[in-house]
Amino acid sequence: MSIRLAVPKEKTQTERRVALLPETVARLIKKGFQVAVEKGAGVESHFSDESYGEAGATLVSAQEIFKGAQIVVKVQPPNLEEVQSMEAGSLLISFMNPHQNQPIIKMLQEKKIITFAMEMIPRVTRAQAMDALSSQATVAGYKAALLAAGLSGRFFPMLTTAAGTIRPAKVLVMGAGVAGLQAIATTRRLGAVVEGYDVRAAVKEQVESLGAKFVELAVNAEAKGGYARELTDEEKLRQKELVAAHVSRADVVITTAQIPGRTAPQLISKEMVEAMRPGSVIVDLAAESGGNCALTKASETVNHNGVIIFGPVNLPSQLPQHASEMYSKNLLNLLMLLTKEGQSLELDWNDEIIAGSALTGGRA
Ligand code: NAD
Repeated sequence: MSIRLAVPKEKTQTERRVALLPETVARLIKKGFQVAVEKGAGVESHFSDESYGEAGATLVSAQEIFKGAQIVVKVQPPNLEEVQSMEAGSLLISFMNPHQNQPIIKMLQEKKIITFAMEMIPRVTRAQAMDALSSQATVAGYKAALLAAGLSGRFFPMLTTAAGTIRPAKVLVMGAGVAGLQAIATTRRLGAVVEGYDVRAAVKEQVESLGAKFVELAVNAEAKGGYARELTDEEKLRQKELVAAHVSRADVVITTAQIPGRTAPQLISKEMVEAMRPGSVIVDLAAESGGNCALTKASETVNHNGVIIFGPVNLPSQLPQHASEMYSKNLLNLLMLLTKEGQSLELDWNDEIIAGSALTGGRA
């Protein structure tokens, strides 16, 4: 019998993404799944109920969406009410923020629900097409660049006009992972002169290939899985001096530095902000995990002596169409790994992707 898959409308107020696009729904149905979509699930990301209907989905109410669903796919972690409505023994795939959602995780365990947390998908080559951290970080990096351009009182490109020559904006991107590289690419496309900085020496080439200059710290802090490790105290001091010089010269700083499972490293102190020119802009993508700048306030725009510090949260939701499209493809690829022809679950607990991303109800 076909697996029944449910796509609820996201309940988090600020979330505009939807887990599956109509075209992905159509592909899943072709593969043998039955798909139920909650009415209005795609409206915020501009996918109408009609388009899901045309794709072959059954449109149902919020009360009915979890009924009989063997698999539930979401963007944001479910709330307690949603978990209560889910079928015992079913399967959930979603971002889970595992460090912050203990009561939810406990209830999922009690209901013997198998949860695959999208942020736990191992970052191995075979899992790249399922890597939602990367797809959504791409969106965040792009959007951060546009927000920075919007907040800045200056042009990004060099302009030669009858009213004079405008020099290009100087942008510094700190943290050149997935989001940072996209911010570099986007600010470069807008014509800015861009510098990229990271504690992983391996990214130098990638930064340079995008036409930006790499700021060298002469430390390589690459750790397991391609992530960064925390710096030693001495390295931190060297980093601070180097960074201070580059920050003070920048018109725009975009920070994206993160260490998985930990508070974000502080890269810009209050003193460094005070050394920046009025009108300069900092967009801090690490705002949700404590911020890379000492003055960042999540979701707020702070004006400190004329320097604007913005700490956006959940940027992918601000580009909901493409963010959902990429997430939907990530989910499709994961679903193909977890199921057989849309008819049955096939969970190979020896598979590192399956074992690595199971948050609850994993290998018995
Ligand atoms: P992330 O969001 O955890 O961190 C963003 C960046 O901040 C990283 O580049 C990190 O090195 C940097 N950073 C951390 N501390 C810093 C500090 N004190 N100063 C400056 N920069 C600092 O990372 P991410 O973007 O999700 O991924 C990082 C890397 O992981 C990728 O660039 C890639 O090499 C690897 N990766 C591999 C795969 C794969 O093979 N499937 C998939 C995704 C990512």
